[in-house]
Amino acid sequence: MGGETEHILMIPFLAQGHLRPFMELALRLHAKTHFTITLLTTPFNAALLRQKLAAAAASPDVRAVELPFNATDHGLPAGVENTDKVPLPFVISVFHSTKSLEPHLRNFISTHFSSRKPPVCIIFDVFLGWVDPVARTFGSPGIAFITGGAYGYAAYISIWNHLPHRNFADDEDFPLPGFPENHRFRRSQFHRYLKVADGSDNWSLYFQPQLRLSMNCTGWLCNSVEEIEPLGFEILRNSVKLPIWAIGPLLPDPSQVGKSSSSCDECIQWLNSQKADCVLYISFGSQNTISPTQMMELAMGLELSGKPFLWVIRPPFGFDINGEIRPEWLPEGFEDRIKENKQGMLVRKWAPQMEILAHESTGAFLTHCGWNSLLEGLREGVPLITWPLAAEQAYNSKMLVEEMAVAVELTRGLEGKVSKEEVKRVVELVLGSGEIKKKAVEAGKKLKEAVRVDEGLGFKGCSIKAMDDFVDAFSIH
Ligand code: UDP
Repeated sequence: MGGETEHILMIPFLAQGHLRPFMELALRLHAKTHFTITLLTTPFNAALLRQKLAAAAASPDVRAVELPFNATDHGLPAGVENTDKVPLPFVISVFHSTKSLEPHLRNFISTHFSSRKPPVCIIFDVFLGWVDPVARTFGSPGIAFITGGAYGYAAYISIWNHLPHRNFADDEDFPLPGFPENHRFRRSQFHRYLKVADGSDNWSLYFQPQLRLSMNCTGWLCNSVEEIEPLGFEILRNSVKLPIWAIGPLLPDPSQVGKSSSSCDECIQWLNSQKADCVLYISFGSQNTISPTQMMELAMGLELSGKPFLWVIRPPFGFDINGEIRPEWLPEGFEDRIKENKQGMLVRKWAPQMEILAHESTGAFLTHCGWNSLLEGLREGVPLITWPLAAEQAYNSKMLVEEMAVAVELTRGLEGKVSKEEVKRVVELVLGSGEIKKKAVEAGKKLKEAVRVDEGLGFKGCSIKAMDDFVDAFSIH
């Protein structure tokens, strides 16, 4: 680490959906402070971040550095049995294995900061609470960063802090501590592991202590906008009792997202041939898929609706996500038919989502409620059809439907029932609803306004002001 500038360290969680907001945060903090920002992560993710930083023409003072990482080191506390039998289910084993980064992080800080001031702060994913004690050892404030929304994470935290929930029936409404009485939850909104978590399972053994550590750090940053989810922030502040800076949406400008493949051109050309606001865009994010039965019903429902659609399609759950699409997962002749009658387009694996959402033909977005997807869709004023699949997505969906009125939930989870008739009904409803569109456009305006600066008029959006406050709090000019 050369030069005499101050430093900020960042430790993202390893999933793609968390890396991007971390990178955007790094770029914005650097632009504001000119400090050196180092993102410390696994070799795989460091390489990925380097590519993204190069594509964004980032300053060399924003860099990704790798820490040695052993993915098979599940890092369970000493004396605790791996009750899931080795190997742990992939996702939770990734969480546990992040703790194997701890000695390498300590080593990095000792080596690089032995003869200089410690980092101004260390910003870590809220799920990596173990970073805070490391930050304290070196005299740096630890800041937890929520890459998602306030309402969803407030629900997640309350659910983890009030285990178990197994005494409720799946469709029984129950109050969640910290939430208003009229915001009742259902177990069917919980991911499968949360339905059975009791404090002694491998999920609880990771999440409970990590969230507790994060709740004990110096402050939180959140990739959301105060004005789009005021209730979420109120609940989160009441439960966390730390300063929380709402600095989102941390999204690149769609015009700056480079076109990466010929599928981009094809999608955009196809959208160009459609009327304004009429196409349903369907994507379940970077890592989720639905079940084979659900895939079949979705396809049949789309045909039944006759509405134009662009579907980023992947093999269903239980099959290799990168494999080919087998004919038996879709109605016979489906793809040929929708090509011939120009109703739809299937895109294999990956599509230029931000460009699609910004296209004038896109009229609705069927989404798994990953936070980046939600921000991207709402920023463009696109009404949503929700199908939450994992993590805090069901609570995001609840907020979009009940608080913001920008969405209709089609179903939830891999076990959720979905029929072709219901698909037709919901697709027609959302594509045809002026009211939902109006609300989505209002939300889009708030998201854009939050990060707008007009120096001439002396205007600063609320997220820009929150970022200023955050920087001031640590005097990191
Ligand atoms: N994405 C994309 N093309 C695709 C699927 C996903 O560009 O075909 C991007 C999308 O724009 C978003 C991210 O991948 O920025 C997915 O993040 P999100 O938080 O929505 O969901 P996750 O993948 O983390 O579940």
